[in-house]
Amino acid sequence: MDQEITKLKGVGEKVAALLARLNIETTGDLLHHFPRRYDDFSTLTPLESLSPGPVTAKVTVVSSSARYVRRGLHITEAILSDSTGSVKAVWFNQPYRQKQLTKGREYFVSGSYEFNNRSYSILNPSLELVSDFPKNTARIVPIYGETKGLKSHTIRKLLSLVDMSALKIDEALPYDSKITYKEALKMIHFPTSMEEVQLAQDFFAFEELFALVLASTLVRKQNEDFRAPVIPFNELGVKKFVSSLPFSLTNDQRLVAWKCLQDIQNSKPMNRLVEGDVGSGKTVVAAIVAYNAILAKLQVGFMVPTEVLAQQHHKTLSKLLQPTGAKIALYTGSMAKSKKKQIQSLLNSGEIDLVVGTHALIQDNLTFQSLSLVIIDEQHRFGVQQRLALVGKSSELPHVLTMTATPIPRTLALTIFGDLDISIIEQLPEGRRAIKTSISSPNSMAQVYRQIREEVSAGRQVFLIYPLVEESDSLSAKSAIEAHQTLSKGELKDLRLGLLHGRLKADEKEQVMTDFVSGDIDILISTTVVEVGVDVPNASLMVIEGAERFGLAQIHQLRGRVGRGNHQSYCILVPSTSQQVSKRLRALETISDGFRLAEYDLELRGPGAIYGVSQHGQLDLKYTTLDDVREIARAQGLAQSFVESEQDLLKYPRLSKLVEQYKSITHLN
Ligand code: ADP
Ligand code: MG
Repeated sequence: MDQEITKLKGVGEKVAALLARLNIETTGDLLHHFPRRYDDFSTLTPLESLSPGPVTAKVTVVSSSARYVRRGLHITEAILSDSTGSVKAVWFNQPYRQKQLTKGREYFVSGSYEFNNRSYSILNPSLELVSDFPKNTARIVPIYGETKGLKSHTIRKLLSLVDMSALKIDEALPYDSKITYKEALKMIHFPTSMEEVQLAQDFFAFEELFALVLASTLVRKQNEDFRAPVIPFNELGVKKFVSSLPFSLTNDQRLVAWKCLQDIQNSKPMNRLVEGDVGSGKTVVAAIVAYNAILAKLQVGFMVPTEVLAQQHHKTLSKLLQPTGAKIALYTGSMAKSKKKQIQSLLNSGEIDLVVGTHALIQDNLTFQSLSLVIIDEQHRFGVQQRLALVGKSSELPHVLTMTATPIPRTLALTIFGDLDISIIEQLPEGRRAIKTSISSPNSMAQVYRQIREEVSAGRQVFLIYPLVEESDSLSAKSAIEAHQTLSKGELKDLRLGLLHGRLKADEKEQVMTDFVSGDIDILISTTVVEVGVDVPNASLMVIEGAERFGLAQIHQLRGRVGRGNHQSYCILVPSTSQQVSKRLRALETISDGFRLAEYDLELRGPGAIYGVSQHGQLDLKYTTLDDVREIARAQGLAQSFVESEQDLLKYPRLSKLVEQYKSITHLN
């Protein structure tokens, strides 16, 4: 299995380079390059009973001819026969076919039998000499993921050169299975029936699922040994703080805050995820929990994904906590060195109670005097390694509270995040109205500008969102900068426009946001830097250009920037071309619940995309769909007894490799 792929006949430097693009470097890699789908050409049909559609036949070549009909159109034709009749085969622009066709020899052909040019023929069929082990015809033909210059049939050829019986394979499995690993490999690449395909897919799906569940079970067990500071619940202090808030908490907010306060009284590190739709009021819950830690003279770190959000959270939390006398600092990458140094030393000496910051918090090797609680907002934007780095800063493990508006589907949470407690804020604060979302054709921008003007003249504010910063981008995204230039001279020239994007300096960003919050800007033209958390209750309309380029969860986050006050709010999605109105975008018109959207997104794009782990390449799930609760339960039972019986994972090298890979995802602590 570990043998270099170049040892295989026919794999020279060129093919090896192409295979490397598909991450295939060894025989094992090749065998784990699983088919995307299959064409069932396994049934031979006598020529007299062909019917339209995919067909396979065993034929003899009667005659063949080839010619250019005109420039750019070459046609190869052959008359094929068997004992029951004959048929014409036609290939377009495949001049090499003529050489393959030897009169009087027997071939398998597989292709589509169709009406073409006034008669029925088999169009562009695969063709190979009759043999006991056909590769491209007369079988269930696997179709593989391809790369430029390396087609499925080459992969099939290479696979047929692997001597399966000579493979040294680790067969050990810690659970019962209908088939062995070797049989599964064989059935996935050389199935003799679709039932075999299913058997093999089930085998690999369960192996993945078991490894995932085992990884999270092991992590949970490991975590039992960790200790966190006990943070006593200061009931009086917290109640006083809550009653000082400008609004009364919703029941869900109260409940979730209470849960967290209970958790952190424990020396077992809290690892709680709070899921709440955009606008459900997660920040104040975090503030309550943080304040309780501050009352115990312990420090809190608050990490957010963007500078804009860090600035805003710093302001919000300062305002909320100001009456309590808590010391709050901001720490971001773009701050002056001297300022950073100063904060570093204040954190070290324990004079700062709460620090709000970006990635810089983990990049700059900060030391705290008594870090007891880490709050991570909109954490799906962080890489797993980054999370680990922040949490690893203190000698004891701090408690961890993560907050997200992108819910994790329950089955996914069960399997991947076995070590995570989840609380949900379902209720929105009173008086919120659903955001009215509609899709508008890019040809009707005049109408959109009219609506923008209406909102502005009613005293409201507007977001105009563009997908990328530069026009020059190969994907031809409209640029926020260009739009700002054009609109401020044209369509919207009498209104006050602001521009926000990632290339601005931190103080420029802050200025723009301040102006928007205070109402000195009517329309904020922005990239997705406003995506998470930004809170401007007077904004009531968001227009999203190039909407087809965004994920559903992302658009839902974006539109959550409006509808945060008491005004009826609107979101207009403008795809780049009017053809790009997909079913996916339409879902946003009818579904206003972030949880249901996430489920829908999960169906369409799979679990990795939802939770943002797939782009880290760690959660490379091939067959597990994580939608079968019974299979998940079975895997959990097996994993539990595996861990309890203290089996040695190293006895299962294949499994142990998978578990290591998945552990880094489940290992939140
Ligand atoms: P998110 O959950 O999206 O992070 P925020 O914490 O930013 O939401 O809260 C959204 C807005 O709702 C803020 O302006 C906040 O002050 C306000 N808010 C939070 N809780 C309540 C409540 N119980 N009643 C009224 N308004 C609230
Ligand atoms: Mg938020």
